[in-house]
Amino acid sequence: MSIPQRAPGGFPVVGIIGGGQLARMCAPPAVGLGIQLSVLAEGHDDPAALVVPSAPLGTHDDLDAVRAFAAQCDVVTFDHEHVPATVLAALLADGIPLHPHPEALRYAQDKLAMRRRLDALGIPCPLWAQITSPAELAAFGERAGWPIVLKAPRGGYDGKGVRLVRTPEEALDWLATAGPDGLLAEAHVDHRRELAVLLARSPSGQAAAWPVVETVQEQGICTEVIAPAPDLDPHFAALITHDALRIAGELQVTGVMAVEVFEIEGHHQPTYVVNELAMRPHNSGHWTIDGAITSQFEQHLRAILDLPLGDPRPRASWTVMGNVLGGDGYDELYSTYRHLFARDPGLKMHLYGKRVRPGRKIGHVNVCGDDLPDLRERARHACDYLAGIVTS
Ligand code: ADP
Repeated sequence: MSIPQRAPGGFPVVGIIGGGQLARMCAPPAVGLGIQLSVLAEGHDDPAALVVPSAPLGTHDDLDAVRAFAAQCDVVTFDHEHVPATVLAALLADGIPLHPHPEALRYAQDKLAMRRRLDALGIPCPLWAQITSPAELAAFGERAGWPIVLKAPRGGYDGKGVRLVRTPEEALDWLATAGPDGLLAEAHVDHRRELAVLLARSPSGQAAAWPVVETVQEQGICTEVIAPAPDLDPHFAALITHDALRIAGELQVTGVMAVEVFEIEGHHQPTYVVNELAMRPHNSGHWTIDGAITSQFEQHLRAILDLPLGDPRPRASWTVMGNVLGGDGYDELYSTYRHLFARDPGLKMHLYGKRVRPGRKIGHVNVCGDDLPDLRERARHACDYLAGIVTS
């Protein structure tokens, strides 16, 4: 195992379990802050292992590897939500400071636990039920009205583990193979759009929220984020930000948290329900790298080290983030730069060092300015050009 080199000056070592793109994007602010990162990566070519010198190999569910890794770090945080509860409990028993704490993280790991807890807090959720049998599924469909949305309680991402179901028969196969907790069923929410509230909270309780953003989804994958969300009622923005901060406080979240919500048309003011929680830097916050005074990655580091938080205000009227999805059989990304950069000198590129696979998130672009339609066109064009969808 490679041991992180401690910099002189009393700077801490921050360990990140998982070597994905979120860990990778913590590297630039860590360099600026003089903080030493160490990532537990699965391979030498993981996105973060390519840029962080201390990147011992190990998987997040290998207890011995995770414990040996954590013992070298002053605090430990996560690139994803998949570290098993048994591993987390062992780290706590070893006295490792974990952010977020497993007691909070479980509400981002398990959608059933999240629904129960948010209900108890009085936070609006879709009508939902835990489903373990075809009879329960049929009864829920009658109550909520078909179609319904079925979700795996754990392990889903980018719409994988989520299915729109029109009849009970459509889900029998999935129900038969589901784990002991069964599935989470939700009413299909007729929403105007999807929003996200991103915030950070530190162990001493300081919290800061970025402006509410709109997340645009195509086939269950977020393709675009607009910051701030256009035409958002300011009272409604204040309400959902207040509720997200309350969730963070009640759950004692530390680090960055995203609260994904559905905006629903209302008579006087829109209403909302929470879709899900993520307790880590999140795709809805990638715009902050170029568009906010403090990026979500710097803020996450500050928060988990219990340093005063940075200013989350935007630097420009608008920032548009476009997710770059891999194109078909198109791997020569560098060859796109000459044309893209000549066409748009304001474009900011953030690639993750991943091999291209069709539909895979391999990076994102940010553009900031005053003319929202122009920014959206520029972000869209760059993503399409990088995917080989347009050629000029
Ligand atoms: P993941 O964990 O894979 O991100 P989500 O729970 O966010 O899964 O669901 C993926 C997408 O499915 C959402 O972004 C939304 O577009 C749609 N969706 C999820 N739940 C509902 C619901 N109850 N009603 C309507 N659409 C939903």
